Amino acid sequence: MPLSGGTRRGIDTEAVRVLLLDLDGVLVDTRPVMESAWHQVREEHSLDVPFEDYERHLGRPFVDIMEQLGLADAEPIHQTYSKASTEASHLARQFDGVPEVLHAFAAADWRMGIVTSKPLERATPLLAQLGIPFAAVRTPNGVGRGKPAPDPIMLALIDLGADPADALYVGDMAVDQEAAGRAGVSYVHAGWGYGTPSSPAPFVAESPKDLLRLVDTGPFLEGSLL
Ligand SMILES: [Mg+2]
Repeated sequence: MPLSGGTRRGIDTEAVRVLLLDLDGVLVDTRPVMESAWHQVREEHSLDVPFEDYERHLGRPFVDIMEQLGLADAEPIHQTYSKASTEASHLARQFDGVPEVLHAFAAADWRMGIVTSKPLERATPLLAQLGIPFAAVRTPNGVGRGKPAPDPIMLALIDLGADPADALYVGDMAVDQEAAGRAGVSYVHAGWGYGTPSSPAPFVAESPKDLLRLVDTGPFLEGSLL
């Protein structure tokens, strides 16, 4: 379906339009799950690291967060965290409007993919609840470096046979913005998520439903993202 209205910078209006999405803090509110799991980690491993310190590094793969926190022996901590996350998974909630918004993108012939630092085994049940046929799902279970490296976004583009110029990435942390920039895809910041963007200031969507402006007008208007 062609985009309606607006001048485009040499973009083929019949081109594939691809919406790549982060999971935690964008589609699903998993903060209570993560907080509960980190509490369990602190107890079992006698760690004096508050959740706020862990949370600051969200968006990176777990092992990379441990490195950022200076915790050398990450594997046993990861095991505790994974088990506790699974046990607390019932605390996850979809953000308001998310399924409707994703269905609207699908109806407008956008193709969708997930690029998350959540392991596949814990991402899968959350994605299944959304009921959307994601054409690509990239997690740390695959090859390559994790965010903020561009690898998972680029791999999702390869999965979809899409160019960076035809894709958007929606994330909620500065590492998401960095990964998108390094992959050459446009970035939209989910203002309802857990983090704040860095410079240059990206477009910020205030709510999941705010993303529908992308469907209405297309992302490639002259002079701005929207
Ligand atoms: Mg996130």
